[in-house]
Amino acid sequence: MFFKKSNIELKSKHEIEKMRIAGRAVGEILSRLADIIKPGISTKDIDEFTEQYIRSLKMTPAFKGVKGVSYPFPACACVSINDEVVHGIPNASRKLKQGDIVSVDTGVIYEGYYGDAAKTYAVGSISDTASKLLKITENSLQKAIEQAKSGNRLGDVSYAVQKTAEAAGFSIVRDFVGHGIGRCLHEEPQIPNYGKPGAGIKLLAGMVLAIEPMVNEGGYKVEMLGDDWTVVTKDGGLSAHFEHTIAITENGTEVLTAV
Ligand code: MG
Repeated sequence: MFFKKSNIELKSKHEIEKMRIAGRAVGEILSRLADIIKPGISTKDIDEFTEQYIRSLKMTPAFKGVKGVSYPFPACACVSINDEVVHGIPNASRKLKQGDIVSVDTGVIYEGYYGDAAKTYAVGSISDTASKLLKITENSLQKAIEQAKSGNRLGDVSYAVQKTAEAAGFSIVRDFVGHGIGRCLHEEPQIPNYGKPGAGIKLLAGMVLAIEPMVNEGGYKVEMLGDDWTVVTKDGGLSAHFEHTIAITENGTEVLTAV
């Protein structure tokens, strides 16, 4: 992942207004996908719904064409099943099955500003472990958002994720992190999902951050498949991913990608 070498850009009220519109669109997509995701649909169906929705709003898909190791990401949504952590490439022959978990990560650009969010869904009824993994990962994001406020440190956010996930016996992916977001998809700072309370940069009003815990059922290690995009757990255990874009303001923290 590429991070621009510069200071953290604080966003004006006007910029946050645009990011609120971008964020809401992403939130709506993820919310509507809950009704579409069921056994038998393909990961390509998820991408097609996402693309149509983005185009219907006259917005631009943020992920299509993002640079990778060997070729640009070819779709509007990353769709990752079970042991796939992130960056799964949608495929018409890849069908969801009863008991799977599937993570969808997508983003849009509205008037030059980005919104980015992700959610892991249950496909039909899932195992107790899978269900716990989803609940804990989403909860770890919630705890992180509670810490993402003016005056706190970045490490408070990271630690909130780590503590929540590890207390439940799960592990934190280390090779991928959250990020600042604005006129670029990935801006400073990087936001690891593990860290020390009170450490790191001070959070300020005007920061807009994409916080995205990736939590594994087993060990934290991951590897990339031969398609040069899909990241999977090394031990084959399940992985979940929840993400919101949030804005820190004078009046508190706003989740831009909530609906
Ligand atoms: Mg992100």
